[in-house]
Amino acid sequence: MTGKTHAIIGANMVWILALFYGFSIHPVLLPLAAFASLLPDLDAPESKAKHLELGYGRGRNRLGIKPFFLLSMIINAFSRHRGFFHSLFATFLFTLLAIGAVQFIHLRWMPLDDSYWQALTLGYLSHLLADSFTKSGVPYFWPWKRYIGLLPKPFRLRTGGWGEQFVLIFFLGTLLLLTFRLFDGVSLELVS
Ligand SMILES: [Zn+2]
Repeated sequence: MTGKTHAIIGANMVWILALFYGFSIHPVLLPLAAFASLLPDLDAPESKAKHLELGYGRGRNRLGIKPFFLLSMIINAFSRHRGFFHSLFATFLFTLLAIGAVQFIHLRWMPLDDSYWQALTLGYLSHLLADSFTKSGVPYFWPWKRYIGLLPKPFRLRTGGWGEQFVLIFFLGTLLLLTFRLFDGVSLELVS
């Protein structure tokens, strides 16, 4: 699946938190989940996450850095695409990292609740789920190298195909709905 589809499906995972905690959760969880949903593809030779750029300006005057470029190059050297980083074990390690990062920010800078690491974890997990609806599946139980799909092969999607476009439009609709609900009368303080 393309990075765009992953990001939109990832942001939709915030529905789970919204239904669990109520719609007063912070809208910043949407980009957080979308961001996390791009990370498993750091194991691909080219990915949205690898080329995510922080910067300003346009054209020749643009100044920017790609914070994940080097990390992705290193991962590429050690891992194949859709290997370890597309596994439940990697999701677990990423969750520990997310809890640590949220706790760090919580103690030092600003109060954050559990929904922040949960949005990150759900975003990451959504990538695995989405990829398991594509032809090749994912190695959920790495190091066991069996690629698992959640649909019979003939029904799985081809990356960039019309099936993916349909999925993209559907989830874009549900994401808009969620965004409107979250922004509806919610203050933008980082804790609800
Ligand atoms: Zn992937």
